[in-house]
Amino acid sequence: MEQILLSKRFNKIDPYSIKDYLKSNGYQILREALKMKPKEILDEIKLSKIVGRGGAGFPTAIKMAGIKNETDKKYIVCNADEGEPGNFKDRHLMEKDPHSIIEGMIISAYTIGAYHGYIYIRGEYDTAIDIMKNAIEEARNNNFLGKNILQSEFSFNIEVRRGAGAYICGEEFALIESIEGKPGRTRVKPPYPSQAGIFNYPTLINNVETFCNLPIILDMGGKAYAELGSDYISGTKLISLSGNVKKPGLYEVPYGTTIKQVIEELGGGVDQGRNLKMIQLGGACGPIIPRNLIDMDIDNERFEIFDSKMGAGAIIVMDDRFDLFDIIHRNMKFFEHESCGKCMPCREGHRQVVTLIEKFVHYNATEDDLHSLKSLVDVIHETTLCGLGQTSIASILSTMTFFNEDYQRRIEDSKRKSETLW
Ligand code: SF4
Repeated sequence: MEQILLSKRFNKIDPYSIKDYLKSNGYQILREALKMKPKEILDEIKLSKIVGRGGAGFPTAIKMAGIKNETDKKYIVCNADEGEPGNFKDRHLMEKDPHSIIEGMIISAYTIGAYHGYIYIRGEYDTAIDIMKNAIEEARNNNFLGKNILQSEFSFNIEVRRGAGAYICGEEFALIESIEGKPGRTRVKPPYPSQAGIFNYPTLINNVETFCNLPIILDMGGKAYAELGSDYISGTKLISLSGNVKKPGLYEVPYGTTIKQVIEELGGGVDQGRNLKMIQLGGACGPIIPRNLIDMDIDNERFEIFDSKMGAGAIIVMDDRFDLFDIIHRNMKFFEHESCGKCMPCREGHRQVVTLIEKFVHYNATEDDLHSLKSLVDVIHETTLCGLGQTSIASILSTMTFFNEDYQRRIEDSKRKSETLW
């Protein structure tokens, strides 16, 4: 069931050796790409139907075409600020196949006409930062970066930027502000980064995994790539599988594989004598679903049935040892801490949500608390400025739908507890 494209060099090459990468067909696609016209490359990407792998799922070709049409100076950014709990695919790509990211970035830069790029890496990823810096240096020494790449007219450079240690810096405008040397805070949209990004110049921001897909697309051809995956999304997806499974780890599967296949066939299922209770998809900002939904495909379109997406591809498995409210409480404490404070519904709302959820954790919840929680999460969802606030409450919204009985039972238990005390 696994389909190995992105992870084909994992543990087979030395990430500190460009020679190893070259021996495994590395930078060969770039050589071919530089002989093509940028429009021809864009047409292949369009044919492939690839969508961004960072979570939002926006069509990559449309994003690139929008920037290509701009005439100004342009930037490219690889978003490697992998701060979402439960996700570790970008770290693996950087630590195991760094040159494929660089190759994808150079191809993108050539396609849209950008001359400078940044790779913004999560601050805690020391090894990945070291490997990427070394790979960029090696690429520069071998004329894959710098002036007149491979004797062409095209010049491009990449700089590594260490992330500022805040979850919000994974949000595209906060990341741009951080690259500019300011505190990581979002900006009001529009304009979008493709119109006014770094230093107000058009900026293409893609996730690590998206860039890694571009050499693969050009190698096999956009049409062949479009045939991989499901009816809705083409290609493969790296899945970060963690929690109560026998074999947690990183797996690459075609879109359309079911969550159940990943958990049971690749992850080995939950421990003997335990029951699967719930799964959180995408990370802390993703929905929590019950076990009767695990037949669902890994496919963004399907996930929209509960107003959510697959995110960056995390599957966090929890068995019957876990308390639903304890998990939601941990999620909400995380977002309370990570809120940048710019807008009031997020800054104050998360504090209030944590207080209300604590009542459920400690068996002190009432029907009124549930109503307050419902209206509060709606306000946060609808009125916050950036993706953090808009998605942070997914675990509550989803569990109010799929685990409504647990909320009601906790309210009943709270009532009984208070009667016993009196
Ligand atoms: Fe900051 Fe939260 Fe508002 Fe985003 S939603 S801008 S993280 S306060």
